[in-house]
Amino acid sequence: MRNYILKFWQGLITIFIGMRVTLRHLYVPAVTIQYPTVKPELPERERNRLYVNMDDCIGCDQCARACPVNCIEIETVKSVPGDDLGKTSNGKKKALWVTKFDIDIAKCCYCQLCVFPCPTDCIYMTDVYEFSEFKRDNLVYDFVTLTPEESEQKKKNFEEFQIKKEAEKAAAAKKKAEEAAAMKAQEASTKKEEEVQAKKTDETESKKTSEDKPNVKSEDKPIEKSEKKSDDKNEGKADDKPEMDKE
Ligand code: SF4
Ligand code: SF4
Repeated sequence: MRNYILKFWQGLITIFIGMRVTLRHLYVPAVTIQYPTVKPELPERERNRLYVNMDDCIGCDQCARACPVNCIEIETVKSVPGDDLGKTSNGKKKALWVTKFDIDIAKCCYCQLCVFPCPTDCIYMTDVYEFSEFKRDNLVYDFVTLTPEESEQKKKNFEEFQIKKEAEKAAAAKKKAEEAAAMKAQEASTKKEEEVQAKKTDETESKKTSEDKPNVKSEDKPIEKSEKKSDDKNEGKADDKPEMDKE
């Protein structure tokens, strides 16, 4: 009997302890909100769905390279002379057409690493957290503003420009090679002419030198001397003869 009364009092005390907690919270303001009618206020640095402002995107690919799970896919096409892509809101000149900018948000781990390297601050986290889908494909967000036809046209324009540029390059290289060959040929002919001229000059000089030199032929010299001697002898004999006759 004593044990029964003890347990009765213990039960009664426990009820009062529980009721005290209930009574205390009866006058505390409610923390439950009527979601989805009422939305909770998010913290300042909340990470949710990504958004890309394509007007400011320059297609630099830095966000895609920073992503640790490769959930950003970007394709760009170079602009051709005459294309006007305008400038970003922070004054950067745009030079690339962005023909693909997909973010697979199903893969995204909300690390925000893609946001920091962006030079134009055009990719950022939004406060949108309600984007559940029945199909997984619907979680791949396409931010490109060009239509598929426009993207194709941009690609085609660039290919044509490349072909034209290559042709111009080849023509310029050919012209350069032709000019170099012509110059080489001209140099060769000039050199040949100079050689011929030099040869002629040498010949003329050697001819002139041989004409100016005295006649020192070995055959002629003794003849001259012998002739002179014989003349002298003859002269002497002629001189002597009358004297002998006189005697
Ligand atoms: S938040 Fe992280 S995972 Fe998501 S796209 Fe950016 S870098 Fe990739
Ligand atoms: S880093 Fe910024 S500007 Fe560069 S491709 Fe990504 S979103 Fe565009």
